[in-house]
Amino acid sequence: VYESPNLPNIKNFNLGGVLSDGLGVRVWVENDATAAAWGEYLFGGHDGIEDMLVVTLGTGIGGGLVLRGKLYRGARGFAGEIGHVPLYVDGPECECGGKGCLELYTGKFALERDYLARSGLSEPVEPKIIFERAISGDLSAQETFKTYGKHLGLAFAHVANLLDLGAVVLTGGILGAWDFFYKSLFETFNLYLITPLKNRVPIKKSSLGGKSGILGAAFLDKAGEEH
Ligand SMILES: [Zn+2]
Repeated sequence: VYESPNLPNIKNFNLGGVLSDGLGVRVWVENDATAAAWGEYLFGGHDGIEDMLVVTLGTGIGGGLVLRGKLYRGARGFAGEIGHVPLYVDGPECECGGKGCLELYTGKFALERDYLARSGLSEPVEPKIIFERAISGDLSAQETFKTYGKHLGLAFAHVANLLDLGAVVLTGGILGAWDFFYKSLFETFNLYLITPLKNRVPIKKSSLGGKSGILGAAFLDKAGEEH
């Protein structure tokens, strides 16, 4: 583990080695979204798709890549960080060290901030409440999810154009609001895809009910190189 934004005290710590010594078994340490991508590839029922981006829509935006049927980690193990694909030049600063990242427009706090600005409320409310309001016909809440879908669609198109993806698979809590963002997501995604890919790259919902990370982690020994 080089560092973790959620566990700031852990830096350059050989977690796998310590656990392996203590437990007497081989241990793999992997980013949760990367493990989820592997789980989706193995157990998600996406037969015949060898190249996929798997994205977790939650408090933050996580991502993992499977390319040519193998878990793709990149040169330093950071591949798949879709949440930190920049969408806007000179956008707000992000904790990752960059600016204008996707997560700043689609994370939990972005949803809350967007809805706050549209609704004229004085206090932010949780995405779950925004979702409930969208169901009850609140236009500001519906617009918030529509914008959410557009931002995701733009970012996914960047990745699909770069890698000629077979599919994008979505998982995570915000997927519950799918009905309110899938149209703007599909529309924006296909608008920015290069012509040979337009309407040919499915965006699918995970059928593993949040278990893709655990399943992928359990089968990391089948993912190739050790980390
Ligand atoms: Zn960032």
